Amino acid sequence: MVDSAKKQLPIKEGMMKLPQSPSDKGSLIGCKCRKCGQLFFVKREMCENCQSQDLEEITLSGTGKLYAFSIMYYPAPPPYKPSNPFVPFGIGWVELPEGLVVYSLLTENDASKLKVGMKLELILSKFTEDKDGNDVIVPMFKPVK
Ligand SMILES: [Zn+2]
Repeated sequence: MVDSAKKQLPIKEGMMKLPQSPSDKGSLIGCKCRKCGQLFFVKREMCENCQSQDLEEITLSGTGKLYAFSIMYYPAPPPYKPSNPFVPFGIGWVELPEGLVVYSLLTENDASKLKVGMKLELILSKFTEDKDGNDVIVPMFKPVK
């Protein structure tokens, strides 16, 4: 397969907007309950707070603060296998300005370089390739220098 035929595919449909231009970093897609205002990531069909099905799609901020983190020393479970290049890898709970805390991979896997409360920014990064050679894109959060 030639490179120009390679596609970028989100690891989960409807989870993110991929960058459309070099200046566009892409974003995460969540949803908001129109009845009670509860926010969710990833999108869902029903509000877990009030059971309303009246949810609207929202674009979430590309920045956040590190709420908690852990470093994993084993390969990620499917669908990340078999070519997980990030062992060990960092995972974090990231507090977005919207007030939502999302669970995400981190670009940093050295615990001494991570600090609760530090500023992070979203990057949409190639994680692996699918069987057709397409790039599989995952959201990750990266410490802001
Ligand atoms: Zn609700």
